[in-house]
Amino acid sequence: MKVLIVEDEHKVVDYLRTGLTEQGWVVDIALDGEEGTHLATEYDYDVIVLDVMLPKRDGFAVLKALRAQKSTPVIMLTARDHINDRVRGLREGADDYLTKPFSFLELVERLHALARRTRAQESTLISVGDLYVDLIGRRATRDGLRLDLTAKEFQLLSVLARRHGDILSKTAITELVWEVDFESHTNVVETAIKRLRAKLDGPFRTKLLHTVRGMGYVLEVREAREMREEPRAW
Ligand code: CA
Repeated sequence: MKVLIVEDEHKVVDYLRTGLTEQGWVVDIALDGEEGTHLATEYDYDVIVLDVMLPKRDGFAVLKALRAQKSTPVIMLTARDHINDRVRGLREGADDYLTKPFSFLELVERLHALARRTRAQESTLISVGDLYVDLIGRRATRDGLRLDLTAKEFQLLSVLARRHGDILSKTAITELVWEVDFESHTNVVETAIKRLRAKLDGPFRTKLLHTVRGMGYVLEVREAREMREEPRAW
């Protein structure tokens, strides 16, 4: 489970990071509203913890920017004496709120509840052309034939399939598939993509996994005649 915490109080941030990491969560931190908006819109999280009072951009502005693009569940942290903040947060697309000071266990419980809710709503069968990815059954087929994928290859394919049509950067793929940050080892991604591509596209005329130079990778249907050369941009 991956959580983004947007909060400027270092004490709260340290406390949450330590506690959630111990519980097995992958934790990203943004210390102001601008960074929060960037991370929340650029990457995928199971849930976001968003403080209202933030430097540069307040929590409502972050929420608004996020909701223009994504439905990632958001729990807002509000001050005890600002009841209007709760009402406004919920009205503008927050899924839940907690009043400061809050208990850690209460927060964890709410985070799990929100993450579960999203997972239940998420489609578990994704199709891209003749490719079907069954996220629950953990199997993928093309043209009715089962692809023989390793666990990591399946995870990589799932990440690309969930966002098919979107270009995913190597950094994003690294974080989503390996859940670690190893920028200097992006050849790990390249190697994994190469292996997946051989199995996914090798035997088929219509290629699905494309490299977008300088940007990343995208899973989508393109006609065979366009495949003579990788386009630089489009
Ligand atoms: Ca704050």
